[in-house]
Amino acid sequence: MSIEKIKNKVRSVHDFPQKGIVFRDLTTVFKDPECLHELSILLTDLYKGKNITKIVGIESRGFIMGPILANNLGAGFIPMRKPGKLPADTWSESYDKEYGKDTIEIHKDALDSNDIIVLHDDLLATGGTMLAAYNLVKRFNPQKIYVNFIIELEFLKGRNVFPSEIEIEALIKY
Ligand code: 5GP
Repeated sequence: MSIEKIKNKVRSVHDFPQKGIVFRDLTTVFKDPECLHELSILLTDLYKGKNITKIVGIESRGFIMGPILANNLGAGFIPMRKPGKLPADTWSESYDKEYGKDTIEIHKDALDSNDIIVLHDDLLATGGTMLAAYNLVKRFNPQKIYVNFIIELEFLKGRNVFPSEIEIEALIKY
């Protein structure tokens, strides 16, 4: 199965969550067993042989393929969550959204300086969420941080908010 076939399964929902937005919905990809399997292989192939030790998934849509990717690579899975959800000591990072601010958190003992990390979320829009996630993970001073999405909305140029040396991968582009 090709990336194009998976892309054809993505549902485009107009005017969600507000008028003028076309929301790219991956639930229609995940519900198809063949698509889910192929997506997991395509994501895994991007990082095979890179000695990845941890996948960090961003709440909540990064919690679907994140653990599958971690399992396929023989890596651990780390949840990065909205404020107040993680039970032990956390580091947090705030970032600007279209309306107001948002914050994400990670357990202080989630990662260490030996880790080789893939940061994973379902979709890159403006890049604000992932840049905050990147800054949070950088505090652990890991060996390397890769950035991964299933979908990239190229017209929003979210890639440009990251330092140019970061390796950013996205399977499906709009
Ligand atoms: P950004 O911070 O890059 O502007 O927005 C990305 C975040 O918003 C991701 O966590 C992603 O899950 C969510 N998001 C924004 N637009 C969409 C969309 O069209 N489809 C999906 N599935 N998620 C979206």
